[in-house]
Amino acid sequence: MAQREVDLFVIGAGSGGVRAARIAAQYGAKVMMAEEYRIGGTCVIRGCVPKKLFVYAGRFAHDLEDMAGFGWRVSEHEFDWLTLVANKDKEIARLEGIYRRNAENAGVEVVASRAVVAGPNTVRILSTGEEITARYILVATGAHPALGPAIPGCELAITSNEAFNLTHFPDRILIQGAGYIAVEFAGLFRALGADVTLVYRGDRVLRGFDGEIRDHLQAELSRASIRLAPGCTIASIEVIAGGKRVVLSDGSSLEVDDVMLALGRVPNTRNLGLAEVGVALDDVGAVVVDEAGRTNVPSIYAVGDVTNRINLTPVAIREGHAFADTVFGNKPWTVDHSLVATAVFSEPEIGTVGLTEEAARATGRAIDIYKTSFRPLKATLSGRETRTFMKLVVDQESDRVLGCHIMGDAASEMIQLAAVALGLKATKADFDRTVAVHPTSAEELVTLR
Ligand code: NDP
Repeated sequence: MAQREVDLFVIGAGSGGVRAARIAAQYGAKVMMAEEYRIGGTCVIRGCVPKKLFVYAGRFAHDLEDMAGFGWRVSEHEFDWLTLVANKDKEIARLEGIYRRNAENAGVEVVASRAVVAGPNTVRILSTGEEITARYILVATGAHPALGPAIPGCELAITSNEAFNLTHFPDRILIQGAGYIAVEFAGLFRALGADVTLVYRGDRVLRGFDGEIRDHLQAELSRASIRLAPGCTIASIEVIAGGKRVVLSDGSSLEVDDVMLALGRVPNTRNLGLAEVGVALDDVGAVVVDEAGRTNVPSIYAVGDVTNRINLTPVAIREGHAFADTVFGNKPWTVDHSLVATAVFSEPEIGTVGLTEEAARATGRAIDIYKTSFRPLKATLSGRETRTFMKLVVDQESDRVLGCHIMGDAASEMIQLAAVALGLKATKADFDRTVAVHPTSAEELVTLR
């Protein structure tokens, strides 16, 4: 039988892969897409979506505490972890169905199997051994959690993948890491009632974020009674009666139910056949691409986390879309990676876009800083001590706002629109000219002096 031929073979049905496959098919390309696990990728199945649902779950605990000051008396309440997990699973199954249908309705043939690159224009479907000839191959295989060094008992630790599906609620959990995932899970498990310890090798959480945001979040984590162990790593883990004993690098030890590692993510390129066909990988195994997502093998492209540029779903979606428009739609464009807003769903949440104060000063430009820290209106009756922090980083000479950093309720919602302003090269004077919406927290952004 003649080898089947397609215009595009997409390996990996996550955010970037599904978008690329769908748009390419809409342009009339014959597209196959292979996925070895579930359609939707990290974001839908074990990332952004289930995480945000868990964050919402935790916030109800805060609401219950905050209600009393507003006159509400809540007599009984109880949290059931397994109900949350089951309902989250139902929602993910629904979303997975939508992703699948959207791809199939666009004419994409979805293959439930691992697939590997067998040549510059050949993909092998491992479940059947079939080889497909593809004019283009798109690698969109994502990344998986890094497991860190092989310490005694490391096999006892879980990652965020497993944390979403624990069959018990982790009453006492130790989380190692201080990036997005570590601080998000620390916050949500604490809000849901767990005793949480955060262990990290640096001196502060969220390396790479604005220094004051890091300080403020660290203060809020302490205020929430999350035990912080900076400058530490896990030395060993062992099973003991009723839990696990964790020994830290400073010699201290504690007993917990679960240990979770959030140590960054590793691109999924192992055993994918890429090196064999000459595709360049960097030292962490990420696919090296140009701004159009093209590898050094002209028929092979890559998008999303497997390229380890900006590892965020909306970026992967854009990269996939740009690829399809460029290669199949005769509408070439590239993704601007320079001004990407992002949110960390910590407690409280963080929204950030543009340069940190440190990065702005490192450019050698004269910088003005405008900032405020306050207790939001709701806290006047709820009594919650949590503070909101906002900061604008402004170029003195041009008055352009180079960075906006927010920590507090709805920071993720605010930063989306601040990103529009920064994208339009807004100046501090533009912010000041904008009439405040009152009473909100966001109004502080246009009244900073
Ligand atoms: P991050 O890269 O954000 O953080 C990794 C953390 O692990 C850092 O604190 C790092 O420390 C620490 N670390 C790395 N290696 C070791 C080691 N060997 N020993 C001890 N500590 C170590 O990764 P995450 O896993 O938190 O998240 C992965 C990515 O997923 C994020 O960068 C982000 O792109 C994406 N994501 C986005 C979210 C969102 O948009 N809200 C949510 C979750 C994830 P150090 O700082 O000292 O290097």
